[in-house]
Amino acid sequence: MKYVLVTGGVVSGLGKGVTASSVGVVLKACGLRVTSIKIDPYLNTDAGTMSPFEHGEVFVLDDGGEVDLDLGNYERFLDVTLTRDNNITTGKIYQSVLEKERKGDYLGKTVQVVPHITDAIKDWIESVSLIPVDGKEGPADVCVIELGGTVGDIESMPFIEALRQLYFSVGQDNFCLIHVSLIPVLGVVGEQKTKPTQHSVRELRALGLTPHFLACRSAQPLLESTKQKLSQFCHVPAANILNIHDVPNIWHIPLLLQNQNAHNAILKQMDLVRVAKPVDLR
Ligand code: ADP
Repeated sequence: MKYVLVTGGVVSGLGKGVTASSVGVVLKACGLRVTSIKIDPYLNTDAGTMSPFEHGEVFVLDDGGEVDLDLGNYERFLDVTLTRDNNITTGKIYQSVLEKERKGDYLGKTVQVVPHITDAIKDWIESVSLIPVDGKEGPADVCVIELGGTVGDIESMPFIEALRQLYFSVGQDNFCLIHVSLIPVLGVVGEQKTKPTQHSVRELRALGLTPHFLACRSAQPLLESTKQKLSQFCHVPAANILNIHDVPNIWHIPLLLQNQNAHNAILKQMDLVRVAKPVDLR
């Protein structure tokens, strides 16, 4: 199994869900089978009890699971049928660990965030990524994982640590990290500012994860000079800096990625060039 992890920096609501779904679309257009997992670091066990005014609409899956609305994006973009287990929350993980603790499964050990919660997260991801969701038999080729929230949030720390360990155990060729960040424009000069992205990448790297790609959200397309600066300060090759500027319709985003050759770069990162057969989405 190959994993594509999508994280977010600077602010919430940047478009991580849409970016992750669109990455899934471009990989699917390369002939790969794609599944997805959404991680929500809140304590609710599912989105069913959360106010739609606060959190957006609850999405109900075929198996009755009441989940985050991003799973609706994944189902529509990727034409898959997800299960309730494709949405991980902190509440679900703690519930499973505490149930095991009550049964005595930890054999008297002190149950801790590291390693017990982080192991539970890794096991959950590894087993759910194998569930076929596209009506075919056998596991998908690629699992796109979206980590909700913003890097640096206290509540997402166990997930970041578990994902760092997962990256280490599956190895370079099986893991691709895409960090979605904001490039604001300040003042009348109209300069595209890279500092918030530099800080969020530094935060991520301090936690042991270096992004392979930056997906930059901006009002207008990125200038070449902005890309060069981001590349130099964020330790990401300029060719892997993707521009996801504001578009009138989110269905344009897979095309935006394909036009920047993102699919080939992601395939290369995960050593999938030999098995993929890219198709033009236009
Ligand atoms: P996150 O997962 O980071 O919270 P979402 O993927 O849910 O963010 O996107 C937040 C909102 O921004 C959604 O309404 C989405 O349609 C919109 N959006 C995301 N990317 C773009 C874009 N490139 N242009 C315009 N709107 C976008």
